[in-house]
Amino acid sequence: MSDYQLYIDGEWSEAASGESFPTFNPANGEKIADIAKAGEEDTVRAIEAARRAFDEGPWPRMSGKERADLVRKYGEAIQAKADDLARLETMDGGGTIRKAMTADTMSCAGTFLKFADYAETVSDYEELPEYALMPGLPGKRNYLKYEPIGVCAQITPWNFPLIMASWKIAPAIAAGNTIVLKPASVTPITALELARIADEVGIPKGVVNVIAGPGASVGEVMAAHPMVDKVAFTGSTEVGARIMALAAPTVKKVTLELGGKSASIVTEDADFELAAKGVLFGTFFHNGQVCESGTRALVNEKIYDDFVDKLVDTAAGIKLGDPMDFATDQGPLVSDTQLKTVERYVAIGKDEGAKLATGGERPTGEAFDKGYFYEPTIFAGVDNAMKIAQEEIFGPVLSVIKVRDDAEAVKVANDSIYGLAGAVWSSDIERAQGIAEQMRTGTIWINEHHLLGPEHPFGGYKQSGIGSEMGVHGYNEYRLKKRIHVDDNLNPAEHMTFMMLFS
Ligand code: NDP
Repeated sequence: MSDYQLYIDGEWSEAASGESFPTFNPANGEKIADIAKAGEEDTVRAIEAARRAFDEGPWPRMSGKERADLVRKYGEAIQAKADDLARLETMDGGGTIRKAMTADTMSCAGTFLKFADYAETVSDYEELPEYALMPGLPGKRNYLKYEPIGVCAQITPWNFPLIMASWKIAPAIAAGNTIVLKPASVTPITALELARIADEVGIPKGVVNVIAGPGASVGEVMAAHPMVDKVAFTGSTEVGARIMALAAPTVKKVTLELGGKSASIVTEDADFELAAKGVLFGTFFHNGQVCESGTRALVNEKIYDDFVDKLVDTAAGIKLGDPMDFATDQGPLVSDTQLKTVERYVAIGKDEGAKLATGGERPTGEAFDKGYFYEPTIFAGVDNAMKIAQEEIFGPVLSVIKVRDDAEAVKVANDSIYGLAGAVWSSDIERAQGIAEQMRTGTIWINEHHLLGPEHPFGGYKQSGIGSEMGVHGYNEYRLKKRIHVDDNLNPAEHMTFMMLFS
């Protein structure tokens, strides 16, 4: 029997094929668990369960308050299990236990709690203004009724399995939808733990279905199936485009959170110490395996050389090691595949003529022998046209680019197919805001990086995505708007006569 089965229609089961697949600890390469491997038949079964739960079950018909009570209970149960979830997250996905305890579990639970609040407090009704071209028409009024969309197929990546699952499940179910979620195959465990918690807190059967299995089969069926009303995806731009194509024939609603190559602009008046730490945190947090990582630092020429030296000195203090040790700053990358991607890009950077200022190697020593560790790596002398500045590496690699002034910084920042996030490091807030407002991206931090909250929308410009998640804006991505016109004058003839001359 698999250690983790498929969660469909409120029941745990093996895959129809009987197949399973292993998941490994990236710190030492050891197997953690066997996971039931969904195939097409299981995927369709999960979609049908979600469809039934939406069309016939209680969930979409409950009041916002009733749903809020259960979603809140869900968030509280996650909080109560935070330590176990943090350990599993670190074992399955790498990173550090410190990150898992301070960011992953807290943010995951907080997202459920915030969307429970929205289910209770964000109205399902909105009055609309009177007809502007026909003011004073008696008895006619318009309003919106917000309604859940239906069955949502949700596909998540491996970099933040818990957080990404919470960003998908919480808003969708709070708004009254039912879901089928597929986690990334390399990190399936904690999404399946979230299914277990849904079951324990009494989310009705069929509302939350979680199945692990290959993107190329399970994910494609989810994106294309006619019973699915919406697809929400986080992952690479390449797969996002494929999902749009699969969803197109049945015109599903689609939200996509995709790749990024965010810029951190450093002006010459920035607080030197803070900016250096901030740029490194922006890049190396979770090994750079973060979609909003600031992997291009655009530094004013007046401070460029000193700033590169400062980055290199400060990066030397980043402690690599055992992810379960609270003192570790940087654990292993998620997989051997990702490690090889990073190694490939570092070789490309060298070939392109960028200057390797620090890192560029796997760390040596017994602690690192079996895991997928990589040194924090900084390239100086980078031209924005280089591949290492244009392509998403998703690893601990920073490209430092020299810019003449703010105008050039904005131009270089915007010279990217991506537009997910960015940062400006400056002591002059007005100047920083001026820069931020010219950057073509969905999120910008001034003197900060990576700070996200469930109350703030997050989404990409350009090839970084469509729509947004989080906040009331993200909540509304899971609701349809129905306009209702009411005429209690019971004499619409005056308007119809005006248009069509009934006599
Ligand atoms: P992928 O796009 O390869 O995978 C993401 C998810 O999609 C996984 O669950 C995967 O399943 C699934 N998938 C793969 N192929 C298909 C397909 N043909 N149809 C449907 N689903 C499919 O990316 P990674 O998870 O490897 O993550 C790295 C990339 O994701 C980076 O580019 C990063 O920028 C981006 N990302 C963006 C974020 C954002 O918020 N904008 C957040 C995190 C990552 P399986 O694992 O089984 O292959």
